[in-house]
Amino acid sequence: MNPNLTTHVGGYPRIGRKRELKQALEAFWAGRLDAASLDETARSLRLRHWQEQKDAGLDFVAVNDFSYYDNMLDLACVFGVVPERFGKADEPVTLDRYFRLARGRARKDGRPDVAPLELTKWFDTNYHYLVPELAAGQEFRFAWDKPVRELKEAIEAGHCAKVVLIGPVTFLALSKTPEGDPLEFTEKLLPAYRALLEALAAAGAEWVEIAEPILSTRKDAKVLAALQRVWSEQDGLASVKGLKFLLSVAFGPIGSALETVAALPVDGLQVDATRGQGDLPWLLKNWPVDRVLSLGVIDGRSIWRTNPETWRAVVATFREQRPQENLWLGSSCPLLHVPHDLGEETTIDPQLRSWLAFAKEKLAELVIVAAGEAPVDALAAARAAIASRKQHPGVHNTALRNTVAALDEKSARRGKPVTERVALQRERLGLPLFPTTSIGSFPQTAEIRALRARYRKGIDNEAAYQAGLDAALREVIRNQEKLGLDVLVHGEFERTDMVEFFGEKLEGVAVTANGWVQSYGSRCVKPPVIWGDITRPQPMTVEVSKRAQSLTEKPMKGMLTGPITILQWSWVRDDLSRSAVATQIALAVRAEVVDLEAAGIRVIQVDEPGLREGFPLDDADRAAYLEWAVRAFKIATSGVRDETQIHTHMCYAEFTDVAGAIAALDADVITLEASRSKMKALGAVLEGGILSEVGPGVWDIHSPRVPAVEEVSDLLRRALAVIPAERLWVNPDCGLKTRGWEETKASLKNLVAAAHVLREEHAAVAV
Ligand code: GLN
Ligand code: ZN
Repeated sequence: MNPNLTTHVGGYPRIGRKRELKQALEAFWAGRLDAASLDETARSLRLRHWQEQKDAGLDFVAVNDFSYYDNMLDLACVFGVVPERFGKADEPVTLDRYFRLARGRARKDGRPDVAPLELTKWFDTNYHYLVPELAAGQEFRFAWDKPVRELKEAIEAGHCAKVVLIGPVTFLALSKTPEGDPLEFTEKLLPAYRALLEALAAAGAEWVEIAEPILSTRKDAKVLAALQRVWSEQDGLASVKGLKFLLSVAFGPIGSALETVAALPVDGLQVDATRGQGDLPWLLKNWPVDRVLSLGVIDGRSIWRTNPETWRAVVATFREQRPQENLWLGSSCPLLHVPHDLGEETTIDPQLRSWLAFAKEKLAELVIVAAGEAPVDALAAARAAIASRKQHPGVHNTALRNTVAALDEKSARRGKPVTERVALQRERLGLPLFPTTSIGSFPQTAEIRALRARYRKGIDNEAAYQAGLDAALREVIRNQEKLGLDVLVHGEFERTDMVEFFGEKLEGVAVTANGWVQSYGSRCVKPPVIWGDITRPQPMTVEVSKRAQSLTEKPMKGMLTGPITILQWSWVRDDLSRSAVATQIALAVRAEVVDLEAAGIRVIQVDEPGLREGFPLDDADRAAYLEWAVRAFKIATSGVRDETQIHTHMCYAEFTDVAGAIAALDADVITLEASRSKMKALGAVLEGGILSEVGPGVWDIHSPRVPAVEEVSDLLRRALAVIPAERLWVNPDCGLKTRGWEETKASLKNLVAAAHVLREEHAAVAV
């Protein structure tokens, strides 16, 4: 009989099944919870999560996957990489200091602002890490024993621990330096990294997983040289006595770096067997049988149930080739990127539920694949669920598939060229020079959130809820009219989230009750699940837009989320290409756009903040992605007449490498985040050859700070250096839902005043 294979994961969700860590962190930041209580919450979460791994039957529990905010930040603190603005480098890492690095400090009691570390996307996940800042002569030392303490905690609780550390190459490659390549610090970091490992060894560590996900995206000479240096025989990591090292690579294949990796003195290698399937034949043939090979067979990037039989067959070929104790199984990446427990989903359709696996269910799947003796019942249950998914009528809508197949070039094209369209629109809308508008949402006050919650819980009936929304709507319109804005919005009070709102209304999409995934710090997202073919059974926003327009003479913008963003911020089915799914969403949005126009809405905004995020990890795949993404947007927006004005909006991104695609969207007006870059973002977008009108943000809405009139008009003048006055709009960087009313009114007032200043300046010039 075959033995069960050794199982482990590279990390488990840490926010808590009910987001307990989020609540504790936010209470601590607000001064409602003391440090000891925060620590206690964190400790109990770690213990519970280790216990879940053990109870599922895993051989190791992952240690040091926990973080109060982010593991890259943790490692920066471990090595004393703390920029000067946060105090002297040799000061201890207190919670206060740690959170200042993560969140900055607002101007209070005369103390200066301290900007936090920069936040950036972690590979192609929805998780964001804090970018360590290496100073010119950066020193590294083993300064914070957080990983060691957590190891001791796990050992004390009786667990077989595997410590997980971000590897030195990934840590440096993802850090930033004022100049030069951060990998040049490899030599200097090494002694500190070894000191950490020695402390772990002294505390009883045996296996340490050194995670080098950077190898999934970079296999260039610099990265490989750094890797070789880190593992050099004399004084590399492997020279630390008493530890066994599992090098791991998540998020993609190792590919051309396989030979280099195989030559490193590591005790084992863990690979992403899902995205890196192409590596498997090489590994089967070449990975030494006296070293551990760990296959990451359970997909940590998807919420779909695994077919364990497929993987058992793959694993069987490896079982034949090597001693069983040197064949391990894991997840393709840490389970941080999927929700915690499907057991929390009591309201979701039971059939759909049977198709899914969250982190806890993935542990069980792992054990099923690793089982020596075929677990007959479990395999049968998986088989039945997978079959029921294939046969479900909702996954294949023939009429829709035919419509998609019949789309032609005309289905993705407006009538006249953009310059002619905007001329028609200006006349029809009667807009002044430098038209003012906002991006869509207005403050989601406690009152608004309570209103939605009462409705959701069934305390308020439909009529009471609608009355509450209508009151908010009337007020937001009155406020915008008083402020003198030119194009108004309805405020989005009916929406918790710009994607979930549409997910609830579209056929083929389901929303979860508790499917939270950490995005950054205490922030989590709850992406809808796209499980079937997507259709729009009925209009989604027409009523509210129509009602809003009836309350004002000014143009009211219809407000939709675009197909690329809905796709990007959802879990996407794995049985249809992303481009095909995007096209289906595009048709649903198109129907909505057309209905809005028919209802008398003259300006329709289709938000696409997710465009840049959808970039595939491999540069070679970018062009194809942009092509279908742009087409989806154009399908969504080209069903209207030339005089109907299509806006789009983008934020949170570098626009440089999507500038051409932004131009290709062929929108009439594009608003974008630009204030923090002092209009550089506008320059980048214009590089793409965009001919439409543009509203570069002139108010950074990420903080409650009210920009002065002078500041706004200054930014506008900078914009005018690169764009003609006739094409410039005046608006904030993004939606205002996280802001309070007070700063919103004050800021918009200044924004409108600045537009007036510019109009006067311009009129004077024109005379
Ligand atoms: N219309 C949305 C809002 O104002 C846009 C949000 C976004 O760009 N992320 O909230
Ligand atoms: Zn935005």
